[in-house]
Amino acid sequence: MSDPSATFGELQLCPQLLQSLSELGYETPSPVQAACIPRLLAGADVLGMAQTGTGKTAAFALPLLQRVDLSLNQPQVLVLTPTRELAIQVAEAFQAYARHLPGFHVLPIYGGQSYQVQLRQLSRGPQVVVGTPGRVIDHLGRDRLKLDRLQALVLDEADEMLRMGFIDDVESIMAQTPEGRQTALFSATMPEQIRRITTQYMNNPEEIRIAAKTSTVANIEQLCWKVEGVNKLDALTRMLETEDYDGVILFARTKTATTELAEKLEARGYAAAALNGDMNQAQRERTVSRLKGGQLDILVATDVAARGLDVDRISLVINYDIPYDTEAYVHRIGRTGRAGRQGRAILFYAHRERRLLKAIEKATRQPINPMPLPSRDQVTQKRIASFRDRVVEVFGGESLQFYRDLSHQLAEELKLEPQDLAAALLYLAQQDKPLQLPPEAAAPEKPKKPSKKERKDNGSDSDVPWESYRLEVGRSDGVQVKHIVGAIANEADLDSRYIGRIKLHQNFSTVDLPEGMPPELLKHLQGVRICGKPTKLKRDKGAGGEYDEAPRRKPKKRALKS
Ligand code: AMP
Repeated sequence: MSDPSATFGELQLCPQLLQSLSELGYETPSPVQAACIPRLLAGADVLGMAQTGTGKTAAFALPLLQRVDLSLNQPQVLVLTPTRELAIQVAEAFQAYARHLPGFHVLPIYGGQSYQVQLRQLSRGPQVVVGTPGRVIDHLGRDRLKLDRLQALVLDEADEMLRMGFIDDVESIMAQTPEGRQTALFSATMPEQIRRITTQYMNNPEEIRIAAKTSTVANIEQLCWKVEGVNKLDALTRMLETEDYDGVILFARTKTATTELAEKLEARGYAAAALNGDMNQAQRERTVSRLKGGQLDILVATDVAARGLDVDRISLVINYDIPYDTEAYVHRIGRTGRAGRQGRAILFYAHRERRLLKAIEKATRQPINPMPLPSRDQVTQKRIASFRDRVVEVFGGESLQFYRDLSHQLAEELKLEPQDLAAALLYLAQQDKPLQLPPEAAAPEKPKKPSKKERKDNGSDSDVPWESYRLEVGRSDGVQVKHIVGAIANEADLDSRYIGRIKLHQNFSTVDLPEGMPPELLKHLQGVRICGKPTKLKRDKGAGGEYDEAPRRKPKKRALKS
């Protein structure tokens, strides 16, 4: 659907934005960017069926930035996101792309942040505001946020906003934006309610779907590893130590990432080099022929640089960064399994990228099976095995008489048993690659209490003790379970997995939350409004009553509270 050879320059982006993209190391537009940017630049509404990992943020941020009037210090673009995390991420992306646009301000507004700070920042006149629906409504209600100069509205992860109970807020915000504003809506799925919004509030939106091409990749074994516990670079080196490979291609997203990763691998003793669009044709050809000739074992490449690469000895492809779409995935893994050989392809993905993984599996109609991370013990065994091979090689090829005499002499002099001497020599022989991994290498596998982001990324189920809280809002206020989840998740920066059972009553509700809420957070949550009423949250002394809605999830371990 998009022209794979298009460049950002061909998409009519202005020089300042092109400069930022080049500094960020973006090489070519992703498919969703190639499709959205021209349409949004032309002022059209866009409906993008795209999930995290497809490059959707830049797909709307770049064209909308280009249309912003920097001399006007009023909100011209409003982006609504389901969570504060995403609001911050999107605001950071705008900031990064706008680094050469003087006078540009972006402001993330979200729950849990002091109103004072936000008001001060609003008064600086940001041209772009990125916020969660609840907080945006609050500011609109207090007349602190003015939308009369708004040119464009973006609904990011619309289906998530629906799931978290924000859809009424979203509609009410939409109704307060000027008539002729442009709208872009991004959603991984298109439930009925979202579809309705698109027909009601959008102007003939162009629908953008990234076409999934199906291809068969029969002779390639496909595996995936979910990034958790160990950082990606450590995981990668463990895999490289334990996998049997001949040549390897690693795929990264940006040119910068390819050089950084290649340097890190070189520093760890691998014959690795980058292959990216910053290199001229001659340099690239030289690098590829070094791989063919065996002077290099690992190439770290971007999609574009590896296009059409045909090297028989590539037996392993590692998708260090997940590709934007199925087409790119199929192309990447097709670099192995050449000339009828068997190949292996490993994909790294974060919890929040799992949808992209599912989409790839669906489009290729092939499972990508999860693989465990090689353990430290496996790495040790592998190192010992290759050491043993080297010993055998030495016995096969060298005349060892001089060394035999020397070891005899050393043992005599030092009064050592031959085994002890051999142990000391083995210790010396391992040099900077110890045969036994040092124990501290295990440390990162046991993360401390994970941050929200980590919890989100690793998808681990909660195993926390719970305590029950009471909220002074109930069904008669129009409150539903999803409203409570949405409000608490954002205001307390809590993953929704950590919001336990919710019971709705006529005039109040109860919710289980992880034990030990800090007093200042409790105080903050008391003032948070759900359906227009403050929650007045407090610890519950044991409310009776039936479940009005199915329990969301049974906590594994309940805190024993009266
Ligand atoms: P998103 O799907 O918007 O969450 O983007 C996922 C990641 O891809 C972010 O880290 C972006 O910085 C990165 N990214 C987006 N577009 C490009 C591009 N054209 N080239 C390289 N990296 C990109």
